[in-house]
Amino acid sequence: MKCRKCGGKAAINMRQHKLSLCREHYLEWLPEQTQRFIEKYRMFSPQARLLVAVSGGKDSLGLWDVLSRLGYQADGLYIGLGIDGGLAYSSESQRLAERFAAGRGLRLTVVDVAALEGATIPEAAARTQRGKDKPCSVCGLTKRHVMNRAALDGGYDVLVTGHNLDDEAAVLLGNTLTWATGYRARQGPVLEATHPGLVRKAKPFCRFYERETAAYALLRGIEYIYDECPHAVGAKSIYYKEVLNQMEAERPGLKLSFYLSFLEAKERGLIAAQSDPAAAGLHPCTTCGQPTSAPGQCAYCRTWERVRSQAVRTLEGGQPV
Ligand code: SF4
Ligand SMILES: [Zn+2]
Ligand SMILES: [Zn+2]
Repeated sequence: MKCRKCGGKAAINMRQHKLSLCREHYLEWLPEQTQRFIEKYRMFSPQARLLVAVSGGKDSLGLWDVLSRLGYQADGLYIGLGIDGGLAYSSESQRLAERFAAGRGLRLTVVDVAALEGATIPEAAARTQRGKDKPCSVCGLTKRHVMNRAALDGGYDVLVTGHNLDDEAAVLLGNTLTWATGYRARQGPVLEATHPGLVRKAKPFCRFYERETAAYALLRGIEYIYDECPHAVGAKSIYYKEVLNQMEAERPGLKLSFYLSFLEAKERGLIAAQSDPAAAGLHPCTTCGQPTSAPGQCAYCRTWERVRSQAVRTLEGGQPV
């Protein structure tokens, strides 16, 4: 297989684009495409201050690398979840994120959940009803809260995440199967700030296949954490990704056309935004001030208050509920 641009040995063949490229031209192509998507979906201007949510994985580190190469002012945010288990997942991903930033002279803010709230994510999950099965719900709501807070406090214009096409297509499939029209209306390359206390979000990698972002990180020599979070095992999103991959193997380009057809339908007003549940009736949380649709406190403050009260009860000799 030969590079379409120079005729040299191809490093990647993208069947869905009918395009093969060598290492050098692939490392040019991906940032060029990223810039094209940033402009097409009006994600942010060249002057915008960006905060990139980095997990230590290929997508977020690859994205941070691309945005820096494109000349954007992009700082990083790493959230220490305290998920270690046998894999030392959090400590290893933090080490790689810090190493990446230090090697390129980039600014990385680290927010450690245990230092902030007094318990790691698995500890919080174990103490609350909500997270009894898996820590993902407390983890997801904590990450969303911390990212929004960090972006607002730091005066950033946009919070940028490394979601790729496989992530987006899996979410879209899930929302379509359950006919979650409100969530579908909110899905897209940009999530507008619907309230002054919410930061604008953008996903510049949303049209790249996972294998494309992985190839970029590998060819660029980025050291990233290969392992998924140990709690991701058995997640519905992983099942949807597998199903989509099976279909993609038979019909190259299916994943991309599924997502792009959705975006087109949205553009044409066929997916109504007025049913968006999250935008309705937002008001400031009585404790932290972040916008919430829940009466009084937001879900984050309520959850972490419960975590702390369970810790006190355990210290007093009571049994955690
Ligand atoms: S899979 Fe891991 S990182 Fe993802 S939400 Fe669940 S606990 Fe958090
Ligand atoms: Zn080439
Ligand atoms: Zn709150």
